Amino acid sequence: MTITPLGAAGGEVTGSCYDVQTDQARILVDCGLFQGTRKTEELNRSPLGHEVSHLNAVLVTHAHLDHVGRLPLLVRAGFRGPMFATPATIEIAALVLHDAAKIQSQDADRRNRHLKRAGEPPHPPLYSQEDVDATLRCFRPIPYHQPIQVAPGIQAFYREAGHMLGSASIQLLVEENAKTKTIVFSGDLGPRGTPILKDSETFTEADLVVLESTYGDRNHRPREATVDEFTHIVRSAVLEQGKIFVPTFAIGRAQGLIHMLTCLMAENSIPRFPVYLDSPMAIEASKIYTRHPELYDDDLLDYLKGRPFSSDFAEVIMTSTPDDSKRINDQPGPLLVLAGAGMCNAGRIVHHLRNSLWKPDTHVIIVGYQGYGTLGRQLVDGEKFVSIFGEKIAVKARIHTLGGFSAHAGQTDLLQWFESLARCRPRVILTHGEDRQRKALAKCIGDRHQIHPYLPLLGEPIAL
Ligand SMILES: [Zn+2]
Repeated sequence: MTITPLGAAGGEVTGSCYDVQTDQARILVDCGLFQGTRKTEELNRSPLGHEVSHLNAVLVTHAHLDHVGRLPLLVRAGFRGPMFATPATIEIAALVLHDAAKIQSQDADRRNRHLKRAGEPPHPPLYSQEDVDATLRCFRPIPYHQPIQVAPGIQAFYREAGHMLGSASIQLLVEENAKTKTIVFSGDLGPRGTPILKDSETFTEADLVVLESTYGDRNHRPREATVDEFTHIVRSAVLEQGKIFVPTFAIGRAQGLIHMLTCLMAENSIPRFPVYLDSPMAIEASKIYTRHPELYDDDLLDYLKGRPFSSDFAEVIMTSTPDDSKRINDQPGPLLVLAGAGMCNAGRIVHHLRNSLWKPDTHVIIVGYQGYGTLGRQLVDGEKFVSIFGEKIAVKARIHTLGGFSAHAGQTDLLQWFESLARCRPRVILTHGEDRQRKALAKCIGDRHQIHPYLPLLGEPIAL
């Protein structure tokens, strides 16, 4: 049998997709979008390396776009087989894929206006809303902790990955020539102690482990210290009647922050003041989060004591429409706005920053990774002036960068997750990490267990 990474390999972090082939079946694990530079995104147009007519099924670990974003391309190519995912993943994937199709069609319209003026043929979007609808019809819910036959000779077993609502690691039992091999895909793993979610679960058996390595070279700042720092910033901003803007990813991070804010208010660590969730996608994602109490950790269940999680979100002002969003500008401080995009490269946060960055009573709290070249990265780097919609804006606001809210496990958590698998001496391949991170994690695993992980290239078949 062979396993071929068709994304998130060769130092690439996005585009997760693994092609697993035996003599009697062929499945994919994830089929995510490449995201980043134009050159990286061009990879989305390259063929997926297989005939979909020979594909039996797709297994999805979680609903982030870099794990589900190429699924509609399979359907476009004629695939109508099952796509297995947890129920929460299916709900979130619907939101994520419809949004992706919308953004692609807007991008294509803009690009095609230029191409038309240049006398060149139009460039179609990757896929349409209809392709997304057809994709969603392929989804089949799969429970955690129950072995399910997903293709001839292949059984799958899902366990909690603690990364986002519905996220999973997957163990495959693969039968070929009367022998059974066990393959474990970590998927994206969350740090231990992530609010709302249960911690990741591990496995004890594998012949091959495919392990993510996003933060394979470092540990995050402890969460408690980060919460203390956040509390301190909010307290002083509220005292001076300031406005706080938090650029945030819509799914996962936004819900975690709201939960933290309502907890801090409930225990009087911060005063009650207006908090806005200014992102239609985050508002929809929050509704999905409130519908899955079976996925909450004990801390959240204890805190809720039987009342619904939606009561936390009821304390937040949800601004769905652009007009509601614009009205926030006229509100006096203190207030806090959670808005996308997470890296300030698009979305409503850009408008808020244009209106407020030049005011000294503004605070911007950066809680996530800011990609090179984005407005968020410029703020983190301490630029005194930035350009927004072609306008020069002075940065008088105070910019706070907090490192402890990551959705990805740091090095220690990755090693701890691998610990129980190390005993059966599996082969290990490291993916979903830049080379520096992969190499650092490979060295740790080598030093600790005398197992030497392999760092595959994109499209390199690995025989088992
Ligand atoms: Zn993810």
